Amino acid sequence: MTLFGPDNLPYGVFSEPGHERRIGVRLDDVVLDVSELLPWPSLNPFLALGRPEWTRIRGEIRSELRRWRQIALGAVELHMPFEVADYTDFYSSEHHAVNVSRILRPGEPGLPPQWKHLPIGYHGRAGTVVVSGTPVRRPYGQLGPGLFGPAQRLDIEAEVGFVVGTPGARIPTTAWRDHVFGVVLVNDWSARDIQAFEYRPLGPFLAKSFATSISPWVTPLEAFADGKPPEQDPQPLPYLLPPGSGLDVTLRVEWNGTEVSRPSYNHMYWTAAQQLAHLTVNGAAVRTGDLFASGTVSGPTQTGSFLELTENGTRPVRLGNGDERGFLEDGDQVTISATAAGAEGGTIGLGPVSGTVCP
Ligand code: CA
Repeated sequence: MTLFGPDNLPYGVFSEPGHERRIGVRLDDVVLDVSELLPWPSLNPFLALGRPEWTRIRGEIRSELRRWRQIALGAVELHMPFEVADYTDFYSSEHHAVNVSRILRPGEPGLPPQWKHLPIGYHGRAGTVVVSGTPVRRPYGQLGPGLFGPAQRLDIEAEVGFVVGTPGARIPTTAWRDHVFGVVLVNDWSARDIQAFEYRPLGPFLAKSFATSISPWVTPLEAFADGKPPEQDPQPLPYLLPPGSGLDVTLRVEWNGTEVSRPSYNHMYWTAAQQLAHLTVNGAAVRTGDLFASGTVSGPTQTGSFLELTENGTRPVRLGNGDERGFLEDGDQVTISATAAGAEGGTIGLGPVSGTVCP
């Protein structure tokens, strides 16, 4: 069974040595050069075409797979697939929110009072969203009163990201597929010591803005089967209904080559349709190239951050080579990949998004 067969066909931007960037489509272990159809060095002009053209062009690529020049995946360099316009990160896993509260704020209520009324999010830094493979430099910051230095508690957040194609404001949940082109995997690198000192009352700032990695491949929404919608109590306000479908995605987190977690997106409380509706309900418009991420994907047993996995570093995990880790050390590599239920009944692959920490 192949995870990148004709029912998947994610888009990316590649170059061969000495050549310009081109748009390509991944098929198994080759890149199909579709620059004849999509003659741009970035996906943004394609994203701007809208749902009917996205569907038509995918159909044209699929119907004539042998028409496209093939280049071995190992022979190309992969680049940022699109220019990120604005970047928003949500916080939509109830399991993650409760775990973080228990670990960082023991004795306080598990969920903020508004958490089940609206999808909480913050505006991230679009300019430091980087493609998989980009080294991640350990950030400096204030780690406590009078304490400045490199972050000691560097962490990951495994997330699912949504790429906006068609601009819009006040987008109803029923229209999210007209606006969202596809899905990337996201690693929202997080410095927990910087975060713990800075985040109240306005949320994360420098703890996360130094780097956010995304996969080089953007999987079109058409490739996914609908997942089951979440059960929500209390019932959200009308602008957040109907909730829209979930996505049946299972992430896989590897730390220096050892699988340490397999969190499932099925447990998320808020859907992408609700996040987009909330993001734009006040009249704020999304633009072509906007990226919004799900928030850390954690479930009842499998978690998408090392803060949760190691109980804030107090329960180190043992990696395959015998090393024990609480948080990230210099030289560590994290790779997030995923599988999802495909629209045509099979399983499709996503990602990977990988990054290595440097001092
Ligand atoms: Ca996050």
